[in-house]
Amino acid sequence: MLDEGVAATVEYVRAHSPYYRRAFELTPAIRGAADLQSLPLTTKKDVSEFNEEFWCVPRDRFVDVSTTSGTTGVPTLYPLTRSDLDRLGENEHLCFQQVGLSPGDVVILAVTIDKCFMAGLAYFEGLRRLGVTAVRVGAGSPAMLLSMMERLKPTAIVSVPSFLKRVAAYASQQGINLAKSTVRKLICIGEPIRDGNWRLTPLGAPIAEAWDAQIYSTYGITELACSLCECGAGKGGHLLPQLLHIEIVDDAGSPVPDGKEGQLVATTIGVVGMPLVRFATGDITFLTREQCECGRWTPRIGPILGRKDQAMKIKGTTVYPAAVQRALQGVDQIADYVMIATAPTPMSDELEIVVALRGELPGAREAIQEKLRGELKVCPTIRIASLQEIRTLGDSTELRKPRVFLDRRGNS
Ligand SMILES: [Zn+2]
Repeated sequence: MLDEGVAATVEYVRAHSPYYRRAFELTPAIRGAADLQSLPLTTKKDVSEFNEEFWCVPRDRFVDVSTTSGTTGVPTLYPLTRSDLDRLGENEHLCFQQVGLSPGDVVILAVTIDKCFMAGLAYFEGLRRLGVTAVRVGAGSPAMLLSMMERLKPTAIVSVPSFLKRVAAYASQQGINLAKSTVRKLICIGEPIRDGNWRLTPLGAPIAEAWDAQIYSTYGITELACSLCECGAGKGGHLLPQLLHIEIVDDAGSPVPDGKEGQLVATTIGVVGMPLVRFATGDITFLTREQCECGRWTPRIGPILGRKDQAMKIKGTTVYPAAVQRALQGVDQIADYVMIATAPTPMSDELEIVVALRGELPGAREAIQEKLRGELKVCPTIRIASLQEIRTLGDSTELRKPRVFLDRRGNS
């Protein structure tokens, strides 16, 4: 079925997408997943630059238009047909079933459902199919979330982990014990909550503890109109092979062995409006095909360990900003920080971490250095600065939140 799905997608885009008709003109017929290697990768830049050439149906068949950030500064349009929206809802329906939700559950959606985001819509559609009660609180107000918790006694929350952390801090100020609430499951999107050994990160662990709830990580990508969600074992996001085909590849686009880190590349199955073949996500992770503790045999992907375009080579070791972030989240002395990457020579990068501390703390720089050396195997330069300087460095008008990684290597 997988091979048929992949072959059908390739045949379909060749027939209907002007971009793929051109890109695949000289490539041979694809019989199944093993033949995909002969096709070029589709990058975020391709999708952004040739946006409408990826559309496979006339405009009047679209029932929703979602967007993703484009590489040109203009958002990339990702329109969905009626059947694409059904596929999206079915994806989340299966994911929510996998985390053990069933009719009778009440689920708070603490995610954005407007502003052309696909995720909020997908979750709502999934919950509707499952027959549970959805409460669209959004991701703006901890007070509103707590008030709805009090009145509706929800059993689960879908949210980005940093918002759950904010809610936990607010609840503690208000003298509310979240561990005593009815919420038993936290479905976390957008930010990794586990490291490569499936342990909860310094972001995930305090959330699970504050709420005394089971925490699930889910990884979704708008361009693929798909997500991979953990089961109760918490050991990777399960693939739904009827909806997506995935590969993990090295810098040359060749597959790496299971368990080894590489870029996640995916081909959609069953998408009608804007299907993508070998879409290069830029996310670094690994794949495992061993049977999961939950009994399922579907392949699983590990946590996202970094972004390919942000990889730095420091003294010969590859370091991702996400790994530095994970390490720094666990250091209590740090009030805020910004990472600055430079490339003094074409072959080597340098990373400076500008850190603001919580007050005068003798030995803090050494403690941070020690922590980073332990986690990353190399140690970036640490500079202590004021909170004001860090806010100024990270200030950004084009993003919705301050930047923590400033790439000054001049190649991206
Ligand atoms: Zn499992």
